[in-house]
Amino acid sequence: MSNPDPAQSGATHQVIDIIADYRERVFYSLSIMVAILLLPLAIDSLLNGRHVIAFFNLLVILILAFDAVYMHYRGSFPIAPSLAFIALILNICVSMLEQDLLGILWIYPTTVLLFFVLTRKVANILSALSVLLITGLAYYSRQPLQETSIVIASMLLTILFANIIVKTIVNLQNRLRDISIIDDLTGAYNRRHLNDSLETALARLKRYDNTISLVLLDIDHFKRINDTLGHSAGDQVLKNIVNIIWTSLRSMDMVFRYGGEEFIVLLPEITLNNAQQVAEKLRSRIQNTDIIDHQHVTISAGVAQISAKETVDNLLKRVDDALYKAKNSGRNRVCIAGNTQ
Ligand code: GH3
Ligand code: MG
Ligand code: MG
Repeated sequence: MSNPDPAQSGATHQVIDIIADYRERVFYSLSIMVAILLLPLAIDSLLNGRHVIAFFNLLVILILAFDAVYMHYRGSFPIAPSLAFIALILNICVSMLEQDLLGILWIYPTTVLLFFVLTRKVANILSALSVLLITGLAYYSRQPLQETSIVIASMLLTILFANIIVKTIVNLQNRLRDISIIDDLTGAYNRRHLNDSLETALARLKRYDNTISLVLLDIDHFKRINDTLGHSAGDQVLKNIVNIIWTSLRSMDMVFRYGGEEFIVLLPEITLNNAQQVAEKLRSRIQNTDIIDHQHVTISAGVAQISAKETVDNLLKRVDDALYKAKNSGRNRVCIAGNTQ
């Protein structure tokens, strides 16, 4: 049997929008910086009679300043950042019409910032629109073809680089997150993630009144495997058992390594009776699989349905008692936990 690959066997590689946490902060600092930077340009345009560009500069300053002040006192942006960016892109287009292609230089930092403030999809849509707009305006204002082509090509490259940078950050961050929540020997989730997941499950239960059950399973006489076949064979047994568990579950179920040779299976939307059937299925599959060197490997398990009234400690105690009962009544069996006190 091959080693479990978490990606295949179930410890999900959830793609999390890691930049989401930073977006508001980036946009807040950005609003202040851009508003301050644009102010002298707006005054200069106004004094020199360039009223259209002065109007757009002031519009962007007002939007950004309003957003920043509101965010400071109320904690949210009243004007969506995407609208602020649209105003900024229009401002750049106007400055291109007034200063030829030199006015377009602002589009490069703006494009990069788009990807750090908006979702990648919206950032791509807005940057594609800005390319189209700038191409149209360059044609309309009869800009030289060679310079226009260089501007468009470098804009497209900037969009490509921004995508690569953001995608790389998200991938690395997700990889880091996987490392921090997955047990590297077995591919099951680790104990830390178990605690978080149980707290989340309990919170959900209180809110939505659904059912969640849990199986605590322990390999029987595992020490003997280590003693007779060696520690690395013991490791292989752990990996193979986790692989059997993952491949027997639904995609929403989760397997955690609770301790050395103890695992917890979290089963959302499953009643106690169904969880008992799942535990029985796991027990019988493990018993009937040639896990290592024709050794007979079995598990004992305790099963509990989580109650919204209990704490994580109470739940773990109940299911542990049930496992203890299964061990004491001969091993290789499943016992149901008593009710919450
Ligand atoms: P029981 O049926 O009562 O559960 O007996 P057991 O032998 O399975 O339980 P016991 O607690 O006596 O021994 C568990 C063993 O698991 C002892 C420990 O060395 C071994 N173990 C814990 N973690 C690992 C690991 O990562 N790899 C290996 N190979 N062995 C481990
Ligand atoms: Mg054991
Ligand atoms: Mg044990």
